[in-house]
Amino acid sequence: MENERSGKRRHFRWGRVLLWICVAAVTAAAVWLLLRLIPKEDENVDALLDSPVMLEQETMPATEKATETEKRNVVPDPGIDVQLLTINDYSRPGEKTDALDYIVIHYLGNPKTTAQENHDYFESLKDLQDTSMSANFVVGLKGEIIECVPPGEIAYASNSMNHLSVSIENCHLDETGRFTEETYESCVHLTAYLAEEYGIDREHIIRHYDVTGKECPLYYVEHEDKWEEFRDDVMNYIEECRNAAG
Ligand SMILES: [Zn+2]
Repeated sequence: MENERSGKRRHFRWGRVLLWICVAAVTAAAVWLLLRLIPKEDENVDALLDSPVMLEQETMPATEKATETEKRNVVPDPGIDVQLLTINDYSRPGEKTDALDYIVIHYLGNPKTTAQENHDYFESLKDLQDTSMSANFVVGLKGEIIECVPPGEIAYASNSMNHLSVSIENCHLDETGRFTEETYESCVHLTAYLAEEYGIDREHIIRHYDVTGKECPLYYVEHEDKWEEFRDDVMNYIEECRNAAG
């Protein structure tokens, strides 16, 4: 009995030893596998993180980017006379727009007034302090262009679109609101210049009418075909400039 019992116990002990050896071997194998796998993953992640950053730095130095931006606008400056308004609550709040997605075309609704007179009126609003009104640009009867508020800054012209657009006011000779040939041509050239500068397509060249339903610019609300022609003329002019630039 004694021998038999101790024999069983010895057998039992050997079983436990074997079990522990197995556990140790499996653990060791697992640790070995982990040690092999983890550094590999890290290397891969590092490689992924490093390479795009390196490439970007190598292919796009800051100087080249700047040159590319300068070259981008193939439409020539249409001859802008910069006369920025004083920053004030009534015509130039000095706030940045959220984006520059639209060009909004207007007419002044005040026949025979000049671009300079309208610019000066916008400037005087800071003293009158009862009306808020302005535009980024005013195009005059002889085609002159005055910049009152820089593009990318809010002007008070297009209601809910002020924070997303650049606005162009146009002078006109009579109540019909039809632009003179000179005004029309300058407005086409300025719109093309801004469209090219800020990457704005034909569908994002709109009228004040398209924002609020107001009859502005009157002639181009009453004559839908003339409005479409205006947008065609802008796109054709951009195309012409692109071809000329090669
Ligand atoms: Zn308007």
